[in-house]
Amino acid sequence: MMLARMPLIAGNWKMNKSGTEARDFVREFLAQLPAWEDREVLLCPPFTALAVVGPLLYGSPVRLGAQNLYPEESGAFTGEISPRMLVDAGCAYVILGHSERRHHFREDDPLIRRKVAAALASGLKPILCIGESLSQWEAGLASEVVLGQLRAALVDLSAEEVFSVVVAYEPVWAIGTGRTATPDQAQEMHALIRAEIRQLWGQEPAERLRLLYGGSVRPENIDELMACPDIDGALVGGASLEVESFLRIVGFRQAS
Ligand code: PEP
Repeated sequence: MMLARMPLIAGNWKMNKSGTEARDFVREFLAQLPAWEDREVLLCPPFTALAVVGPLLYGSPVRLGAQNLYPEESGAFTGEISPRMLVDAGCAYVILGHSERRHHFREDDPLIRRKVAAALASGLKPILCIGESLSQWEAGLASEVVLGQLRAALVDLSAEEVFSVVVAYEPVWAIGTGRTATPDQAQEMHALIRAEIRQLWGQEPAERLRLLYGGSVRPENIDELMACPDIDGALVGGASLEVESFLRIVGFRQAS
């Protein structure tokens, strides 16, 4: 039996917006957001804006997420934020393994694996980002790299735990570059990822797990990406910073 997957559109604000800017965005966004029941919308502000955005989203259909965590309960980890702190701030999701963290902050697969486990243990849904670099893509290594990152981050998880994970395929060459994978390229990789989940955890987790595409998603390309059978949503960076463009993206046309 085919299970319906609730589409998820997540805005990753990265290191953008002060508390005041975040508040203004959310008020304007919520005022114009239709009451959809066929899609989930998520905002991931920087840590400093969580306490501002959380109460504004409370009772709205929009969920709150964070962009990172440190996989310890508490203690001497200056500058880091624990899963419990994120739950306390009202987060339901956390982005993990984003390529900017892998690249600028040298996050490796074992650390990302610990972060995924810590998120799940505290009830946060991880959005695990995986994706190949331009040179890996040009060398024909994309699927090997992507499936390797997937296996490394999810190794040893039970099928029940995998149900709570969202995977975002983000080809690094498409992030913030204006260059998007074509819907066919994205669909092909998503189908491969789903086949790998099926192979490792079985049919039900493979059908339930949501796969997001990320990399220069815009109002102009969201409809054709969302029309692909294995694309269940999008992780949106730059285009989530403006109310108008993010509203257009979350208002993508559902395939009939
Ligand atoms: C991202 O940050 O995950 C991303 C996909 O950014 P952009 O949409 O700006 O390419």
